[in-house]
Amino acid sequence: MENLLQSLIAYKTILVAGWIAAFFVFERVFPAAPIALSREDRRNRLFRNGALFGTNTILSIAVVVPISAWAAASAPDWRSSLAPWWQGPFGIVLDLLVLDCLIYWWHRLNHVVPFLWRFHEIHHLDETLDTTTAVRFHWGEVLLSACARAVLILTLDIPIESVLVFEMQVLLAAIFAHSNLRLPTGLERALGWIVITPAIHWVHHHAIRRDTDSNYGNLFSFWDRIFGSFSPNRRRLDMKIGVEREPERPFATLFLRPFRRIADQK
Ligand SMILES: [Zn+2]
Repeated sequence: MENLLQSLIAYKTILVAGWIAAFFVFERVFPAAPIALSREDRRNRLFRNGALFGTNTILSIAVVVPISAWAAASAPDWRSSLAPWWQGPFGIVLDLLVLDCLIYWWHRLNHVVPFLWRFHEIHHLDETLDTTTAVRFHWGEVLLSACARAVLILTLDIPIESVLVFEMQVLLAAIFAHSNLRLPTGLERALGWIVITPAIHWVHHHAIRRDTDSNYGNLFSFWDRIFGSFSPNRRRLDMKIGVEREPERPFATLFLRPFRRIADQK
């Protein structure tokens, strides 16, 4: 068991690092949309997203992973007696499906609850999309998500293997969906019936609030269709990316922005 966990963690790190590096390169060779930023703006953006990613990585190692591990170890063991079929490989697949549905609702809550939006807005203020947007989150959101996940792990008695596979899957899906990679139109449309593609997620980052509040899915796109939040709009490459009437901010401002009164937010 200990060995299985260690290999899962090692594979997760290698796979996610390789995945993000591959998409980072390919989206620059085959971009879906040209990045309309000056060289200096691109550099500043890379620093901003990298700095937010850096704080998240430290927080993940120090706090998020221990919270998830604690929750998985402390969950009351009701599955083995009440749902013995919800274990093993089938159990992991079912866990992924249930967690993907719940992460859809968590993301949706982040948009409709003003307190949560204060943190999630930092992710949306990015003025263009690529793989670095997928890891650009305010540390407050990362912490709040870890607490929400711990509640789910405790309630659903989710084993640590499922948690690790899920966290890896969330990252892989987010990197794919945020990437600026140009895919053949037919392939992207076909994929879009099952999973969130870059074109679908692009609309979620459109700086028009009606579109921002749509297409919440992480891996599967059918949750948005089932729960009525799938945008009728298709990606247009001239869509402005960001938050309606809100410009991007420097790193230090982003770091503190959720804690400022709305009237004082710059
Ligand atoms: Zn969002």
